[in-house]
Amino acid sequence: MEIKAEEEGGAIIEDAVQKAVEFHGHLGPFLVLGVRMGHLAKRELGSSGFEGMRAVAKTGNVPSLSCLLDGIQISTGCTMGNGKISAEPPGIPEAEFSAGEKKVTIRAKGEVVEEIRRWRERYASLEEIARSIQGRSDEELFGSKAQKR
Ligand SMILES: [Zn+2]
Repeated sequence: MEIKAEEEGGAIIEDAVQKAVEFHGHLGPFLVLGVRMGHLAKRELGSSGFEGMRAVAKTGNVPSLSCLLDGIQISTGCTMGNGKISAEPPGIPEAEFSAGEKKVTIRAKGEVVEEIRRWRERYASLEEIARSIQGRSDEELFGSKAQKR
């Protein structure tokens, strides 16, 4: 049976989001954004994550922005424990990923971050905006696209 790449991607994302919620404790928009960011990074780098990959997140470690970190850890296998991810200032929704010689920097769009900050204006709950973000395209979420160096 042929499975469309998009549907397959959706199932992988859903699986990762469920794992992320178990790990993180709640479903939130920055958590989902982190899952999506890590997933995009693996695609851009042609990496399956874990051993071959590293991540440097610029999120700092203050929630709710730092919820991104747990999403990235679940979707890439780059964890605090295995030393493959680090969290640095200045506290922006951006992370640099590398695998071998390849590097990619991914940053969430400013308008998406603003929407999350003001979620009460359009959504009944954080879960609702989290699910909305889960269903969007990479182009909608990550503006400057991935810049390869
Ligand atoms: Zn959170």
